[in-house]
Amino acid sequence: MTVVRTRPAATLSLDLDNEWSYLKTHGDASWVELPSYLDRAVDHGLALCSALDVRITWFVVGQDAAIDAHRESLARLVAAGHEVGNHSYHHEPWIHAADRSAVAVELDRAEDAIELATGIRPDAFRGPGYAMSPVLLHELARRGYRYDASSLPTIIGPLARAYYFRRTRLDTHQRAERAALFGSWRDARRPLRPYRWKTAPRALLELPVTVVPGARVPFHVSYVLYLAARSQRLARA
Ligand SMILES: [Zn+2]
Repeated sequence: MTVVRTRPAATLSLDLDNEWSYLKTHGDASWVELPSYLDRAVDHGLALCSALDVRITWFVVGQDAAIDAHRESLARLVAAGHEVGNHSYHHEPWIHAADRSAVAVELDRAEDAIELATGIRPDAFRGPGYAMSPVLLHELARRGYRYDASSLPTIIGPLARAYYFRRTRLDTHQRAERAALFGSWRDARRPLRPYRWKTAPRALLELPVTVVPGARVPFHVSYVLYLAARSQRLARA
């Protein structure tokens, strides 16, 4: 019998960012109460995946998995056959500036919480806000992660950061923390297809977030919604 290996046309993933994580990124102090729409997001997401008959990767934030009230929703993801990945514990897009021990604690806590909630110890990672650093990549490789999915090779990142700084009121410390938010111009030149980082003790597979070839604009619901608010035709295109 011949085994035919087909290459997947695409990977589908969803970052299960909660209401509090957006508030936190935007420097809104109300995030500390951890307002949550996680259960609703899981309901909608699972219904959509079921209607489309797809299994995807859900990148889950450890802080959410650590809350008892979310456990049932998160367990449903695994029961429905989806992959669950690690999206950090505190969802801080400035994690790229963290040192080795801080990164290790962040990954440990998220892995423990996600395993407790879902029964699965995650071995796939996406940085909050697509944050990545050599320290993070080496730590993922050391832990035997199957892949990282934090690279967003787009020119939109620095533009999004400039827009974000204009629209938010941040103090000096918060601005410094967020100085590299959403990536750099150099990130835009990263490969569009899967590749391996030269990490130790073994190479780490990178699955970049898909962007439109050439224009390098993300296929990303947030950007499409942003565009749709200005031009429905452009968003559809
Ligand atoms: Zn996120």
